[in-house]
Amino acid sequence: MITNQIPEIKALLSTPKNIVIVPHRNPDGDAMGSTLALCHYLKLYNHNAVIIAPNDYPDFLKWLPGDDSVLKFETQQQESNKLINAAELIFTLDFNAFHRAGNLMAEALEKATATMIMIDHHQQPDNYAKYTYSDVSMSSTCEMVYNFIEMLGDAEKINADIATCLYVGIMTDTGSFRFPATTSRTHEVIGSLIAKGADNSQIHNNTFDTNSYSRLQLLGRALQNLKVIPELRTAYITLSQAELDEFNFKKGDTEGFVNYALSLKGIIFAAIFIESHQDKIIKISLRSKGEFSVNEFSRVHFHGGGHTNAAGGRSDDDMQTTISKFISILPQYKNDLAQ
Ligand code: 5GP
Ligand code: MN
Repeated sequence: MITNQIPEIKALLSTPKNIVIVPHRNPDGDAMGSTLALCHYLKLYNHNAVIIAPNDYPDFLKWLPGDDSVLKFETQQQESNKLINAAELIFTLDFNAFHRAGNLMAEALEKATATMIMIDHHQQPDNYAKYTYSDVSMSSTCEMVYNFIEMLGDAEKINADIATCLYVGIMTDTGSFRFPATTSRTHEVIGSLIAKGADNSQIHNNTFDTNSYSRLQLLGRALQNLKVIPELRTAYITLSQAELDEFNFKKGDTEGFVNYALSLKGIIFAAIFIESHQDKIIKISLRSKGEFSVNEFSRVHFHGGGHTNAAGGRSDDDMQTTISKFISILPQYKNDLAQ
C-alpha cells in the first residue's frame, strides 16, 4: 500500500525531476483538477513538471489556474513524446489502465521508462505503476491528491491555486457533494480547501454558469428525446450527430444531461447515447442509484467501465441498433431493476 511507500516517494521528490502528469482521455473536472493541483504542488519543489492531456477538454474547465500550460497529446505529439521519453517520473491521475489515455498516448506510456505513480479511484486497476494509490471508495482523485500531499507532510503547503483545482474535481465528481461517495471526510477536505483560499461560490459560477444559448436548446432537445421504461426503472436519452450539429455542439455541452434522466422519480438506471461521426461510435454514459453497477453493465456490454454509479462506454453499431441492443439486454437485469 502507498502509505508504506511514502518515504520512498518523498525521497524521489526531494530533488528536482522531469515529471509528466497525465489525466484520462476526454478529461473531466476531476482529471484536470487533480493534474493541475499536483503540478502546482510539484512546482513548489522546483520540479520540471508538465501536464500532457491526451486530448482537449471543455471550455468550462479552461479558467483553472495553470490551464494555459497544459499540452494536448493529440495535437502536440512530437513535443509530448519528447517529454514522456525524458521523464523520470510519470503520474497517471484519474485513470488506471493505459487504454483510457487513448490508443496513441497508451502506446507512448507503454514505451516510457519513467517510474510510474498512479492515483485513482476507479475499479479494477491495472498493474503498471511502481506506486499505486488506488481507492474505489474515494469521492474523487482530487480528494486522493489532497491525501497524498498530506501523507507527504505538506498539507500546509496547499495554496489557493492548489486548493481551487482540488475543489473543482471534488465538486464535479460528487455532483456538487451529493453522490454517495461524499463523506464527512470529503467535507472536511473541502472545508480546509476553502480555508486555504478556494473561493467556493466563484468556483461554482466559473464552472456551471457558462451555458451558451445553443447548449440550453440542445438540452431541450435531449429532454424531448427522453424515453422511460418504468417497469425496469430505466430512462435513456439519445442525441444524433445531426441534432448535435443543429445546436452547434461543442465539447462538454452534453455534460450532466444524463442526470436529468436519473432525476425522474422512481428511476434508478439512466443512460445517454451520443452519436459521434468523428469517432465513428455511439458514446454512452451510464448512471445508477443504489446497488445496480453500471461499471459491470458497461464492461460486459459496451466496452467501458467506471464506478458502480457512473460509467462510460461505447457502441460501434448505429444508434438504432445500439438502442435495440440496450433494450434487449435490460430484462437480464430484471431482478436488480424491477421494483
Ligand atoms: P462519463 O459518463 O462521464 O464519460 O464517465 C463516467 C465515469 O466512468 C467517469 O469516472 C469515467 O472516468 C468513467 N469512464 C468513462 N468511460 C469509460 C471507459 O470507457 N472505460 C472505463 N474504464 N471507465 C470509463
Ligand atoms: Mn474522477
